[in-house]
Amino acid sequence: MTEPSGELFERAGGLIPGGVNSPVRAFKAVGGTPFFVASGSGAYLQDVDGRRYLDFVQSWGALLFGHARPEIVREVTRAAASGTTFGAPTEGEVRLAERIVDAVPGVEMVRLVSSGTEAAMSAVRLARGFTGRAKVLKFEGCYHGHTDGLLARAGSGVATFGVPDSPGVTGAAAADTLVAPFNDVEAVREAFVSLGEEIACVIVEPVAANMGVVPPDTGYLQSLRDLCDGHGSLLVFDEVITGFRLARGGAQELYGVIPDLTCLGKVMGGGFPSAAFGGRRDVMELLAPAGPVYQAGTLSGNPVAVAAGLAALDLIDRLDPFSDLRHRAERLVEGLGKAFESAGLPVAINRAESLFSVFFSEGPVRDLAGARGADHQRYARLFHGMLDAGVYLPPSGYEAWFLGTAHGEEEIERTVEAAEAAARAIG
Ligand SMILES: *Cc1c(COP(=O)(O)O)cnc(C)c1O
Repeated sequence: MTEPSGELFERAGGLIPGGVNSPVRAFKAVGGTPFFVASGSGAYLQDVDGRRYLDFVQSWGALLFGHARPEIVREVTRAAASGTTFGAPTEGEVRLAERIVDAVPGVEMVRLVSSGTEAAMSAVRLARGFTGRAKVLKFEGCYHGHTDGLLARAGSGVATFGVPDSPGVTGAAAADTLVAPFNDVEAVREAFVSLGEEIACVIVEPVAANMGVVPPDTGYLQSLRDLCDGHGSLLVFDEVITGFRLARGGAQELYGVIPDLTCLGKVMGGGFPSAAFGGRRDVMELLAPAGPVYQAGTLSGNPVAVAAGLAALDLIDRLDPFSDLRHRAERLVEGLGKAFESAGLPVAINRAESLFSVFFSEGPVRDLAGARGADHQRYARLFHGMLDAGVYLPPSGYEAWFLGTAHGEEEIERTVEAAEAAARAIG
């Protein structure tokens, strides 16, 4: 390992567990050594070894307008020059809250936090505080950050009590979590029949995007809404990925199903550590200091992060990028599908608007079992074939591909051509 990335990864490995500050960055799922980023611009990344990559990770969906978008950089620079944190209210927070409430149908009041993990954790606490109930129903393959109670996986059975999904998560923390397969209404109905009076909330990614992309079946989200209403439980949409990406108002606007609480993050932070949860006024007013449910953060509503978020939401309002993004995703998915099919590779490409991912699967993928059934070794070969051609895909077949406004016609074409060549090599 003589290249700078290799050297840095070795140094990092002695200092930072696994050499990275978030696990998927280490390329474990695809093998090899991660490159270290020197800079980014638009759709492209430059690594410390002097290579340039077309980037379909886009900081895991935190970026909708590419790297170093000038309008965002300008607002961030301006904000930082006036002070980087106060721990006191600023006008920007009010403006960002207004923008979020205006855009997201289910959000009447909102609280800013610093990460999606914090948003989901706080939304669940609030749902428990509001209902006076303990249990949370989540879905296999949906990710809501790394808080204990949401790091539970299914035991055996249709809808089961959660079991810890990581050492360090106690049985007690997982015991109040129920886990059901995604897109299976019957499993949720059964859970409500046996435990309905104990379920504080159902939390779901309305389009699952952390097991690869798995859109909801027709009527699925409405069924969750109806079951929650029938049993006095709250419906929580984790729109950390889908918010401001599938549509201005997120998946709830697209599918016309309005949750009681919504988690936001990624795009709304404009590339900074910023996230939010919000929802019904009567529920949100239970939050401290208006009400008794405690939640706080030293850097919540940080003025630099707020400036970045406002700049990103301004761009959304000015450019209305969603139909363009959808059209480009359609073309890319079509080109990829043809490339894999003409190489004789069975493939299922799931897409919701501009959000998609590639499963080397014989059949359709509707849930985690389907995602697990895909050929992830073949995906790893695709990843490396594309990386050699200068195209950086998510380094795991369980992650979404992220398009942004910086991916133009030329980038779509280049990607399809690279995929055609890679497809022939990975069969
Ligand atoms: C990324 C993500 C989170 C966690 O957000 P962090 O900012 O990484 O803590 C939560 N929910 C979903 C759906 C996510 O994709």
